[in-house]
Amino acid sequence: MYRKLLILCCFLVLAASLAQPAAENHFDGKSWWGHIKVLAADDMEGRETGSAGLRKAEAYVVEQLRQAGLQPAGSDGFYQPIKFVSRQIVEKDSSASLLRSGKTEPLTLGEDAIFSTRVDLAAEVEAPLVFVGYGLSIPEKNYDDLAGLDLKGKVAVLFSGSPAEMPGPLASHYQTLKERWKAFRDAGAIGIITIPNPATMDIPWWRIALNRTHPSMDLAYPEFDESKGEKLAMTFNPAHADKLFEGSGHTFEEIAALGKDRKPLPRFPLAAAIRTTATVVRNEVESANVIATLPGADPKLKNEYVVLSAHVDHLGIGEPVHGDRIYHGAMDNASGTALLLDVAASLNKASERPKRSLLFLFVTGEEKGLLGSKYFAAHPTVDSRSIVADINVDMFLPIHPLRVLTVYGLEESGLGDVAREVAQTRGIAVQADPQPLRNAFIRSDQYNFIVHGIPALAMSVGATTGEERKLHKEWLTNRYHAPSDDLNQPVDLSAAAAYEEVVRGLLIKVADDSARPEWKSSSFFRRYERATGQ
Ligand SMILES: [Zn+2]
Repeated sequence: MYRKLLILCCFLVLAASLAQPAAENHFDGKSWWGHIKVLAADDMEGRETGSAGLRKAEAYVVEQLRQAGLQPAGSDGFYQPIKFVSRQIVEKDSSASLLRSGKTEPLTLGEDAIFSTRVDLAAEVEAPLVFVGYGLSIPEKNYDDLAGLDLKGKVAVLFSGSPAEMPGPLASHYQTLKERWKAFRDAGAIGIITIPNPATMDIPWWRIALNRTHPSMDLAYPEFDESKGEKLAMTFNPAHADKLFEGSGHTFEEIAALGKDRKPLPRFPLAAAIRTTATVVRNEVESANVIATLPGADPKLKNEYVVLSAHVDHLGIGEPVHGDRIYHGAMDNASGTALLLDVAASLNKASERPKRSLLFLFVTGEEKGLLGSKYFAAHPTVDSRSIVADINVDMFLPIHPLRVLTVYGLEESGLGDVAREVAQTRGIAVQADPQPLRNAFIRSDQYNFIVHGIPALAMSVGATTGEERKLHKEWLTNRYHAPSDDLNQPVDLSAAAAYEEVVRGLLIKVADDSARPEWKSSSFFRRYERATGQ
């Protein structure tokens, strides 16, 4: 009886494994969490770009890479040094007010609006305001919110988001600082005031306002100046946005109701003008990307690279929330950094090397506007034509079991198909971005590879139930870019391990494929494909 049963069991197991070979496991989530415990600890001080804390975190990364047997692939050993300029608003010497019917209505900085030092603010601005709806110019769709409006010498007020008919990637692309400003500059505008869409705000206003005087950064090289001529950039509190619309014949309530459902928005001159004075302190900052390689096994394909990237920087030390000033960035993005270290160690230990070389890229300056990856993509430390793909890992949020994987860029290139295949062999479903309004596809480092023509994607743990969706929403509201993205939060180690397996599998499959991944002919981003000479 016993024996018979045993034979039967073995047979069933064998039959099952013949039907679908069981995927091998390399990770258990423990070493992943071990790295996070180091990178998100208090003494890393939140890893701000240019800080001693980030230098310490990067030294840890380099030490782990050395121990794993990887080779340096930066411009200075494992490092690629980069120069930045930082800009910090001095609020006590700055001001903003609305001018309406001969009256001056002062705005309270922090409550009504905040300056954005992502652009180099002019010391003084006085200009009429025009509401431009979503403020999008999308030539491919013959869509132009700026058409027919007089914006010469004026400041545009826009409601963030996009109309429903606009495909997510297209809408995201034209909301980047660079593309957005290009259109406004050509229309003669001198500044932009953005009203966040209350329906899609990840972070509540009080938290946005809390760190408004924290320095912004930009790359200190003229080739990267994307906001030339932008004299004013502000974000306006949606709860106070009615102040802008007074006397225009429209209310903010009307605009927000339309924008919530991505309906078309009216566009019209506002009854008010804006006057600002801005005092900005500028400083030079130095930081570095960390880059390592695992050489490929194939004599020819080893001259090509698959990049696995993650940002190692975070927000540093800021205003306290619940008594904690350190913005630990455990999920954002010690989690991605830890994954790269795990995958690097596991692949170097494996009996067989992938055919193509792998490049492990730990970028700086992501939180400052994807700056480290922007620099790397423009000045790669390997021949730019040899980079076949980028897989980026940023805040993949294993806060519940991994049953569905959200793939940003799923339909854009062959990488999406490979990701689907690898996930499915592990019983994990895939989905495209369920929240295109959050612009995730352009909000992390993969975007800088995309605009250089390199197929790229990013993935995160998707929600499958109402309960899981609630977990994600609560995580974004309470922990995202807050000190509580720390080591005390609950994470699902088995989900993290499963996610690591998918990334490892995807990386190997892309590295071993005789053909490079390609953009789909339907993809908007195919326009960036360079002549690779292949
Ligand atoms: Zn972040």
